[in-house]
Amino acid sequence: MAQDQVTPPSVSQDDIHRIDDDSFTDRNVCLVTGAGSGIGRATALVAAGNGLTVAATDVDEEGLEETSARGTELDLEGTIEPIGGDLTVDDDIERIVDRAADLGDVKYLANVAGIQHIDSIEEFPMAAYDRMHRIMLRAPLYLSKRCIPHFRETEDGRGCVGNMASVHGHYVTSDKVAYNVSKFGLRGLTQSIAAEGDGEIRSFSISTGYVKTPLVTNQLEDTAEQRGISVEEVIQDVMLGQSRVKEMMEPVDVANLFLLGFSDLGRHLDGGDLLFDGGMTLTYE
Ligand code: NAD
Repeated sequence: MAQDQVTPPSVSQDDIHRIDDDSFTDRNVCLVTGAGSGIGRATALVAAGNGLTVAATDVDEEGLEETSARGTELDLEGTIEPIGGDLTVDDDIERIVDRAADLGDVKYLANVAGIQHIDSIEEFPMAAYDRMHRIMLRAPLYLSKRCIPHFRETEDGRGCVGNMASVHGHYVTSDKVAYNVSKFGLRGLTQSIAAEGDGEIRSFSISTGYVKTPLVTNQLEDTAEQRGISVEEVIQDVMLGQSRVKEMMEPVDVANLFLLGFSDLGRHLDGGDLLFDGGMTLTYE
């Protein structure tokens, strides 16, 4: 059944790619947003699997508890500390970073939280635009602003911001204007951090096609309705149609890329984008 192809899988021990890196210790903290679901949850688990202390934040506190329970179940090396908070609220952002700093040396920030809204430009509710902008663009900037001073205070004065962009940060589909604009903007933020970081504070973005998460499963019906096609056609034609690799990515595949970017293997990745889209944006038939 089509739905099976997009059912969000859970992370197992074997999925976690371990990277030998001197900075991947429990003294160092990786702050992950959107950690209550999908890619953020997988990133929290992979960071903990690599020995980091994880400050896991999300507005969905139940989801966060499930993430940290999964970390315990997998007996991961690093701990996952759930910190509830709403990224549209500045006081929450400040509290989240302060709490992360209580856990150790804040060295990595993964900006993953995001939402989707599907409507044409003419119909697009400005309140939805503002909310998406706050969660997906303003919060990553404000979190970076608050985390960078902590990066500078770590033992080697280095740190890294990883931003979850999308193929929608490279090219766009109709009826997703706020998402498209946010993802293009996030790549601008990534490059801005790199420009000011002198190679010591690095930044990178990750751009993927469709990943098996609730964000995707939940938009199947709206997209089908908007385009006047079936859910099966949305998966085959819209989501995988332009990809040469006919298989959707799993959240843990993306999570492993975050850790690669944070690690010493990523030391020349600065302002760049990891375009892992199965050939979606750079080829056409
Ligand atoms: P998801 O819906 O599984 O997870 C998103 C998380 O963000 C949720 O746990 C949600 O509670 C959290 N969130 C939403 N609003 C928030 C707020 N105001 N404050 C704090 N947390 C909030 O989605 P996902 O697919 O894992 O998406 C994660 C990121 O990856 C998003 O930025 C998305 O744009 C991006 N992305 C996803 C795909 C995909 O196909 N799934 C592809 C490319 C990029």
